[in-house]
Parts: sequence; structure tokens; C-alpha cells
Amino acid sequence: MGERDLVVGVDLGGTHTYAGVIDVRGEVLIKKETDIDLSEDADTIIRNSIIPTIKSAIDDNPFLAGDIRAIGIGIPGNHDSKRGICFFSPNFKWRDVYVTPPIQKALKIPVYMLNDVRCAALGEKHFGAGRDINNFVCVAIGTGIGGGVVAGGKLILGDCEAAGEIGHTTVDPNGHLCGCGNYGCMEAMASGPNIARRGQEAMKNNKTTKLWEMVDDISEVSAYTLFKAAKEGDKLALKVWEDTGIYLGIGFANIIHTVNPERFIIGGRVAGAMEFFLPALRAEINKRARMVPPDSVELVNAELEENAGMIGAAALAFEKIGVF
Ligand SMILES: [Zn+2]
Repeated sequence: MGERDLVVGVDLGGTHTYAGVIDVRGEVLIKKETDIDLSEDADTIIRNSIIPTIKSAIDDNPFLAGDIRAIGIGIPGNHDSKRGICFFSPNFKWRDVYVTPPIQKALKIPVYMLNDVRCAALGEKHFGAGRDINNFVCVAIGTGIGGGVVAGGKLILGDCEAAGEIGHTTVDPNGHLCGCGNYGCMEAMASGPNIARRGQEAMKNNKTTKLWEMVDDISEVSAYTLFKAAKEGDKLALKVWEDTGIYLGIGFANIIHTVNPERFIIGGRVAGAMEFFLPALRAEINKRARMVPPDSVELVNAELEENAGMIGAAALAFEKIGVF
């Protein structure tokens, strides 16, 4: 056994498994990645991508290998973390998959797992924009909208580890159908694909928007296209971003009244367009969150960008083994 406490943090992206050997300062000492083929079944992905990636990170430097105490994994879905089962992952199309037991069996190191955005919240708590406070909410806006709630310095998991699923709070009772089966979820109105959908719908009644020049076909309009059009001052794109801020603001106001955070830490690809939705988001919060002083809740970008998934999963492992 060596003298340092190190862990492996594992991030399951849609195309790659990333595994990093990470120290208590959140520094990534070794990083490995392998492809994930989502057409394969879960057991094959675990055996052929996840376990070998972790193993190659551990084996990379024999001087560090003896110091590795635990493995943390961020899961893109919901779960029973104690039994290591992922109940459902929409992106991975996983149902009732045993994730941690085969990894622990193969590598003989304790393995812990948690939803990837809950892991990201732990990463921000220990190494990022949540370092200095005890009450904050992490929101990741990308293909979906995930969340993680830290209250009183602790990540809240709830009865069946679903606390933080703020993307599935309703922000429009007459809104669009969500992947979860509900209508008008924050995710169904303000995630990347749904920002794109609202942009495409608005274009149909607008012949003058720059968006028509930016794509060959209306179906190619993405949140990123709308970001670029907003940069050029396109009115329709700016309105789509403003509405995004309103939908998020409705959801955030509800969260404010539930857990009274000091700060929202906003990450994910859509956070790159924050300049265009922040004013409406702030205004909507002030309009609806009437039980807290106006402007009292901070809205900031996530600090951990590259490697955020691995570092968050490492933070989970450090907490589990009692280093933090
Ligand atoms: Zn939903």
C-alpha cells in the first residue's frame, strides 16, 4: 500500500468510457478512454469497455496503483446505488443492469455509483463552484436536464434516490411530451433538443429569420444554430433563448421554494449560451420566487468543465471511503 489516497473516477459518455486516476485535490493524474458501442448489451459494454478502461488507468503507473482506494462511477440514469443496479438509462437503453458488482468482482476494489449529475454536484462541492457554500443546486442542461441538490452541505438523494430530478418538474401544464411520459417537464421545454424544436416551430411562421440561411433544412436547426443566430442579433433566435430563460426560471423558482439554495451552478452544453437566457431567467425567478429577497440567488456557470464527469465520480468515491 502506498501513502496517498487516490481513486478512479469513471464517466460514461454516449460514445466513450473515460476513467481517471484522481487525487484529493481533484487533479487528474492519469486519463484513459475507450469507445462505447451503445448497440451492444449492457453486460458486454461493462466487460469490453468499462472494466478495461478502469484497468488500464490503474495499470498505467505501478507506483500509483497501490494507492487506489476506490472507484466511483457516474451513471446516466436512475438507480439503487447500494445494490449497484441501474434501473433505467434512457440514453444507454439500460433496464435493471447490475453495474458495480461485476466491476468490483473483476478489479477487487470497492466500487460506488450515483447518477452522473448528482456526481457532478459532488464535484462542484469539493472542487468547483460549490466549494464555499452549503446550499446549492447543480443543473446540467444538455440533451436532457439533470440536477443535484446539496442542502446543509450534503447531497440529497431522497427516498428512492430520485431527488434532484429537477428536469422532470413541470414548467408548462400544456407543454410538450417528455421522454419520461409527462407533459411540460423543464427538460421537455428547455433541454438542447427542445430549444431546437421550439426554434424550428417558430421558423415556420417567420420568413425573415437568419436561421433560413444557416441550414439547408429546417430539421438541421439545433440549439447551437440558435446560439450562433442569437450572436448575430437574430430576433427569432433571441426570443427562443428568452423563452428558454422563462421556462428555466419557472422551474428554478419552484426549487428555490423547496430547498432555498444560495446558488444555482449551471453546466452542460447549453450553459454556453447563458448570456442569451440569463436575463429572462433572472427576471422570471424574481417574478415568481417571492418568499426570498430579489436577486438573492446566484446564477453561475459550473467550474469543472473538461473531466467534470470523472472528477465528480471521484468526489463520490472519496466521500464513500471517508476521505472527505
Ligand atoms: Zn420528464
